[in-house]
Amino acid sequence: MSGEARVIVLGCGTSTGVPAIGCTDPVCLSDDPRNKRLRPSILVQNEASSLLVDTGPDLRQQALVHGIRRVDAVVYTHFHADHTHGIDDLRVFNFLMKRPIPCYAFPNTVNVLRRNFSYIFGNSPDTTGFRPQLTLYEVEGTPFEAGGFRVRPLDLEHAGMRVMGLRIGDFAYATDCNAIPPASMEALRGVRVLILDALRHREHPSHFTVEQALEVVRELKPERTYFTHTHYDLEYYETNRKLPPGVEMAYDGLTFEIRPEEQGEG
Ligand SMILES: [Zn+2]
Ligand SMILES: [Zn+2]
Repeated sequence: MSGEARVIVLGCGTSTGVPAIGCTDPVCLSDDPRNKRLRPSILVQNEASSLLVDTGPDLRQQALVHGIRRVDAVVYTHFHADHTHGIDDLRVFNFLMKRPIPCYAFPNTVNVLRRNFSYIFGNSPDTTGFRPQLTLYEVEGTPFEAGGFRVRPLDLEHAGMRVMGLRIGDFAYATDCNAIPPASMEALRGVRVLILDALRHREHPSHFTVEQALEVVRELKPERTYFTHTHYDLEYYETNRKLPPGVEMAYDGLTFEIRPEEQGEG
C-alpha cells in the first residue's frame, strides 16, 4: 500500500446518536446538519480498498449516504452496541464483493462478538436467513494488515475495558476512552491528524471530557485534532469557537487525506 488515502467520518455522535430519541434539548432540535451525528464509525479508503472501523446501528444509512460499495476489512474498537449492532448489514458487502470479510479485534472484543452474534459466528440452527460471512481474527499489540492498510493497534482504557485505538501512518483514531496508557501515548507521538473521544464538559466514567481531551492534545500536539463521540451537550459552532487552534469538532461526512504507512515500514 502506498500513496494517499482518505478518512471519512461516517458518524461522530455518542451512543444515542444526536438527536437522541425524544430529546428536546436545543441541539437535538437543531436543523443544522453539523448537530446531527450518527453513531461513531470511520472509513479509511484508497483507490483499491476500504477499511471500516466499527459497525454501529447506523451502518446502513452511513453506507447509503456515502455510496460505500466495498468493505475489504473491519476493525472493531470494542464490543459496545453503538459500535457493533449494525453488523448484520455487512452481508450486503458479501453480496457485492462475493467473499467473506475479515474482521479484527482484541481478544476481549472477539469473545463478546462471538457470544452476542452467535447466529453469525456460531452454528445457528436457523438456516433460513442469510447471515453475514465474516472471519474474526484476534489481534494483540503488534501491527497488522487490514484491508491493505497497516494498522498499529493501541490500548485505550474505557472505564477499565480494553478498547483498540488505531494508528495508520500519520493518522490515529481514539474513540471511547477515558485514559490512554503511557505506551499508547508513546505510540501516538508524531501523529499528524487525531480523532479523539471528547464526550462533553461534565465528567463521565468512560469517556474523556473536552478538557481531558485537550490535555492529551497539549501533550501530543497533532497538527489537527477532531473530537468524536460527542454528546448533544456540545453544540457544534459554540464548542468550536472555544477550542484552541488546530482542534475542532468532527462532523458526519468530514473527510481528510492521510498518509498511510508503507508496508514493511516501522
Ligand atoms: Zn461508543
Ligand atoms: Zn464504548
